[in-house]
Amino acid sequence: CGIVGYIGTNDSKSILLHGLEKLEYRGYDSAGIAVLNDDGVNLTKVKGRIANLKKSVDNSVESTMGIGHTRWATHGEPSIINAHPHQSASGQFTIVHNGVIENYQDLKRDYLRDVTFVSETDTEVIVQLIEKLYDKYKDTLQAFREAMGLLKGSYAIGMIDADDSDTLYVSKNKSPLLIGLGDGFNLIASDAMATLKETDQYLEIFDKEIVLVNRNFVEVQKLNGTVVERKPYTAQIDA
Ligand code: GLU
Repeated sequence: CGIVGYIGTNDSKSILLHGLEKLEYRGYDSAGIAVLNDDGVNLTKVKGRIANLKKSVDNSVESTMGIGHTRWATHGEPSIINAHPHQSASGQFTIVHNGVIENYQDLKRDYLRDVTFVSETDTEVIVQLIEKLYDKYKDTLQAFREAMGLLKGSYAIGMIDADDSDTLYVSKNKSPLLIGLGDGFNLIASDAMATLKETDQYLEIFDKEIVLVNRNFVEVQKLNGTVVERKPYTAQIDA
């Protein structure tokens, strides 16, 4: 299982699909990508191999930002419905997630009684919770931050807000995740293997940090909003 994300000026689909192929070694049962353009979010999900996903992706969809996922099912059988990315009820928020949310049933009961769930995953609880908090605050970063503060368990998360074509929202806890830095583009990945074709410059991120990934900058924050300075390092692996 793994996640990958891209925001830049090139075609996101090919970068995401290449990244997912490089993450295949981690094992998976299904896979998917979501890309954003002026028409909204375009989702493709499949069971089985990345080669399958490649065939299913509509090559006419142009986009310069997106997120991708290989799933190793923990909650809900391997199926297209349970494959990531998952979306909130209105479709505004789309996420990929690796890991296990231990308190997803509590969160469902305490915050999401009125929400109709599409999948059986713990992941869908995260994205529905973000939308619920967005309805309250009308502020995506605040909703994302508060949701991350409520999660118990392990996660590496990448999120798209359909109303914001300039930001990937990112966080992690006990699941691996790195930020890859480029000139006019940035990436996220579970493993540098997924993005070495694009860059050898990486930012390490620590548990419970929130990262805003833009085309031209990356901002790392603590959960309380304090901005953190972090120096990039050069990856010493052959692509
Ligand atoms: N727990 C999530 C699910 O079952 C994510 C699994 C993963 O890390 O791939 O969908």
